[in-house]
Amino acid sequence: MSKYPFFYSAVCALILVFLSHSALAEAPGAGLARLAGGGAAISDSGGRVELNVEMSQPVPWRVHTLDGPPRLIVDFAELVWDAALEVDSGSVLEVNTGTYRPGWSRLVVVLREPLAVDSAEMRVADDGSALLTMQLIPTTADDFRDNAGIDPVEVPPVVAAPPPASGRLRVALDPGHGGIDPGAEDGDLREAELMLAFARKLKEVLLRTGRFEVVMTREADVFVPLEARMTLARAAGVGVFLSLHADSLAEDDGAASGMTVYTLTDNLTDAVALRLAERHAQNDILAGVDLAGTEDEIAFVLLDLARRETMPRSEALAETIVSGFRSYELALNSNPHRRGSFTVLKAAEVPSVLVELGFLSSDRDRERLMSEEWSARASEAVRDALLQWADEDFLMRQGFRK
Ligand SMILES: [Zn+2]
Repeated sequence: MSKYPFFYSAVCALILVFLSHSALAEAPGAGLARLAGGGAAISDSGGRVELNVEMSQPVPWRVHTLDGPPRLIVDFAELVWDAALEVDSGSVLEVNTGTYRPGWSRLVVVLREPLAVDSAEMRVADDGSALLTMQLIPTTADDFRDNAGIDPVEVPPVVAAPPPASGRLRVALDPGHGGIDPGAEDGDLREAELMLAFARKLKEVLLRTGRFEVVMTREADVFVPLEARMTLARAAGVGVFLSLHADSLAEDDGAASGMTVYTLTDNLTDAVALRLAERHAQNDILAGVDLAGTEDEIAFVLLDLARRETMPRSEALAETIVSGFRSYELALNSNPHRRGSFTVLKAAEVPSVLVELGFLSSDRDRERLMSEEWSARASEAVRDALLQWADEDFLMRQGFRK
């Protein structure tokens, strides 16, 4: 350690940042995940080797193997690795855990013999905690070498919780930004705070109908990476995802006032959408999230298949929200339904929209966003739109299955 004093102190500083952040994150589902329950353990079980990692909440993760010597490598986004891993296996030579890159923890298991990943999944319990379970089986040295590399051994599935037995629609509300990422700012106003306040109001309005359950991607002023927001919502088994924003844009591009709903596109998008999506991704990078390789090709092929069914449902939701705003006579953007490549909209099986409620850079929007009366009407417009969409979506899907 004394050979790398700078590196060591940098790691210490990171750990301190992690600890102070997680101390702020009191609400479940917000902030950083930690090891929970039985913690992490690796053991032999009937000819297999089993790895279990229990954590306070689900996080994005990936697994791959490396040869020379054979190693199993598991990366976790935003997981505070604050306990030792218990090893009770003859197949394991050594384990190491720690921060690999800012925002990512890494577990390295040095293997005594070549083992292949047979199954790997993260399951979410009712209390919101998550368990990653991995089964390893013996393989030949040749096969191990052929399969080793930085590509994931398999696409890590997050097994979604079942939809609520109550028959209610579980809605994810995603207040944009938070913590070290304030989003757009104007004087004392911060997009992150405004959106959290709006999401809380909308949550109440939705719950009052008795038709919805609500999952928030953050409940406090904490930073949550874009990917983690999506993962969290999927793991909670939500049926629909609404990201809430009020960004800033230069007035002169004509797109910078009134409400806009965005749906996902993989194609080139209009300049405004591109700028907003880039800014959101940039905020993640500034906050220390390593985005490299988070979207690998194998995953994309599978995701595309699921998206084909989901996209029309998201499009319909966007249209219904626009009509909702129109019938409440709330200010709409000149082109109120746009498409962009936003990270939070990429949960393949969950209809998702990003709502720019208005723009902090517009004087009139700013006034609206600060008004209690406007927020109440906007919440009701979104509520009515969700009720209508849920009914139409149900009928449409019944039709699909005939
Ligand atoms: Zn934003």
